[in-house]
Amino acid sequence: MNCIFCSIVEGKIPAKIVYQDTEVIAFHDVSPKAPTHLLVIPREHIDSLNGAKAENETLLGHILHVCSQVAKNLGLAESGYRVVTNTGAGAGQSVFHIHFHLLGGRTLGWPPG
Ligand code: 5GP
Ligand code: ZN
Repeated sequence: MNCIFCSIVEGKIPAKIVYQDTEVIAFHDVSPKAPTHLLVIPREHIDSLNGAKAENETLLGHILHVCSQVAKNLGLAESGYRVVTNTGAGAGQSVFHIHFHLLGGRTLGWPPG
């Protein structure tokens, strides 16, 4: 399997990592869509929410908690931020290793396009 985010997990390609633990990694998106744009991913390869199982519930909850802590550390908690996971090509998913976009640093329009 040729997965770019697994390569980042394995350290085979570089990323600007801001947080990591035994379960997840958070790093800057290479093509930011907002002044702050991070990706939070599990080390385990899961294609998308479509591929998540009941046994992944704790992991998915941990990812959201990490998003909140990283946002707080980056000073986004007060100004606001958005956490998004695109699921499927029709929703804009281009990397099929589940990831949560953490976007902030400017006013974010709603709804997204
Ligand atoms: P998606 O379109 O699947 O929701 O989001 C994939 C994201 O991964 C995009 O925002 C894209 O810029 C980012 N991305 C793709 N390849 C790389 C990479 O090699 N390194 C990093 N840091 N981000 C990447
Ligand atoms: Zn992967």
